[in-house]
Amino acid sequence: MSKTQSNATTRISSFVLLIIFLTLALSLTALILATTFFGQGNEIIAGYLLLIGFIGVALSTYVLFQTRRRMLRLRIEIPPIVTTIECRKCGFKSVREFQRGDYIFKEGEPCQKCNEKMLITAIYREVKDKEKTA
Ligand SMILES: [Zn+2]
Repeated sequence: MSKTQSNATTRISSFVLLIIFLTLALSLTALILATTFFGQGNEIIAGYLLLIGFIGVALSTYVLFQTRRRMLRLRIEIPPIVTTIECRKCGFKSVREFQRGDYIFKEGEPCQKCNEKMLITAIYREVKDKEKTA
């Protein structure tokens, strides 16, 4: 479910990126043309092209930063997967980040209290309570 969702977002963002870079390229072309027209003495056309170029560059950089920020926020919002390890002897419980190769009922590291081998009892995605927004 999350896989298809992330695929959709990457497709959309790459499409947005394409548009941004096209706008950027066109704006730069406008700026280059502006200098050419300026050299020819066509100051009015040069001025318009300069304006279009600057607006284009500003707009594309703005959208680029907005998209980047949204993508960063999306990445942060994914809760981490955690592994719960329990000691069968003394009941000591420890929660740590999921590591590759973890599975339920796998023997983990020795207990911090009694040095007995601990057992992985749960692997789950940690869902934190969302910060209350006013
Ligand atoms: Zn123990």
